[in-house]
Amino acid sequence: MSFGDIDQKINRLERLLEVSRFLGASLEIEELLQSIVNAASELSESESSALLMYEGETKLLKFVATTNEEKESIKRIRVPIENSLAGTVYNQRQSIVVRDARNDPRVSFEIQKVLGNAYSLIAVPMLFRGETIGVIETINKRNRLDYSNDDVNILETLASQAAVAVMSSLMLEEMRTAYQELEESERKKSDFIAIASHELRTPIGLILGHATTVYDGITDPNLKQQLEVIVRSATRLKKIVEDFSSIPGLQEGATPVFRKKVGISNLVSEVTASFKKQAHFKNITLKCNTPQQEFQVEGDREKLALVLSNLLENAVSYTNNNGHVYVTVERLSGYVKVSVIDNGIGIPAKDLPRIFDRFYQVEGHLRRRHGGMGLGLSVAKAMVEMHNGQIWVESVEGKGSNFSFLLPLKDAQATRPSKVPAFEPGSLV
Ligand code: ADP
Repeated sequence: MSFGDIDQKINRLERLLEVSRFLGASLEIEELLQSIVNAASELSESESSALLMYEGETKLLKFVATTNEEKESIKRIRVPIENSLAGTVYNQRQSIVVRDARNDPRVSFEIQKVLGNAYSLIAVPMLFRGETIGVIETINKRNRLDYSNDDVNILETLASQAAVAVMSSLMLEEMRTAYQELEESERKKSDFIAIASHELRTPIGLILGHATTVYDGITDPNLKQQLEVIVRSATRLKKIVEDFSSIPGLQEGATPVFRKKVGISNLVSEVTASFKKQAHFKNITLKCNTPQQEFQVEGDREKLALVLSNLLENAVSYTNNNGHVYVTVERLSGYVKVSVIDNGIGIPAKDLPRIFDRFYQVEGHLRRRHGGMGLGLSVAKAMVEMHNGQIWVESVEGKGSNFSFLLPLKDAQATRPSKVPAFEPGSLV
């Protein structure tokens, strides 16, 4: 080999390296495919080149890029896999050099027309993880020279780099499309939730209002009992709608937080007391340990009450008859910690990571015995986080659960040291 030949070889390899780097960087598919055919022509010193890929719909090969000027009409042409040059390379995953294209039946008349006056060709497969994803064809070595083994080698190297780049680009495009579809379906879901909860609010309010008025006006204990069922059910429905309607706002970060000084011990006692009846109904011991000292946080009382009532609602629902539910309030440095502890059915370890996701339920919605939409915990989490707090759960299936949340104390209180009584179930009142 002469020095001139070695120089030329080095130049080609350097150019191949440059092209490979470029292919890795350009991820827009159209631009990438065009760069591949341009590089194929340049590196093999060919008059033109083309790239074909498999089209699932037609089960044929399709020209996806070419250096030929008639790009649009060429891209409309499909090539059969059987008996064509590109098809053979596609199936056999091996390169083919055609030295006399005009007498080779695999280079059909139509392709001759597309590729111009082809007299010699190289077709190489683009392999990705052992599968052919496309075929690169170069046509006519310049100056009517014959294609050499070096030409084949350099094209094969280019094809393998190109295959990786094309697959990355296609995957990225697929991901983008999937993400856009997801965003669209999230938007539709939010719109639906917003409309449905808005429409439900008024009739539920009317049912509750009228039922309460009738309840106050009658004395028959039997009727009173029946009306209690109506009021209880309508109240439950109201809560579901409230959880529902907080979702679109939570998602967009649009839910307003009306911050005021909130005494957590007082709030916890009040909300716990509102579950007395529900707990009594299942003979569940409901106790609340609130220290003498009040803990002040800066927050939205309504929202914080909703957090606790969602946790209590679950604790009572998912605890069997005769069980217990304890609520504790304690101070940690700079924070107040509220825990709702039950000895109920617990949560399987595999479900714990998703328990705060929207619409997540351990039992499928249709199989479950308990009501609810799988929203309570996600709403609670969003509300706690709005207050710069944290919420988490510790749970053992069959033994019980401990849901806790931390809220930052108001500045002055956060710095004042205080002793917190340790939690002892026996000391709860
Ligand atoms: P739901 O409306 O279904 O109660 P949540 O978001 O409040 O929705 O809770 C999600 C799921 O977490 C529930 O369906 C239930 O399976 C489980 N879960 C929540 N709290 C408890 C608990 N205290 N004990 C056992 N499982 C619970």
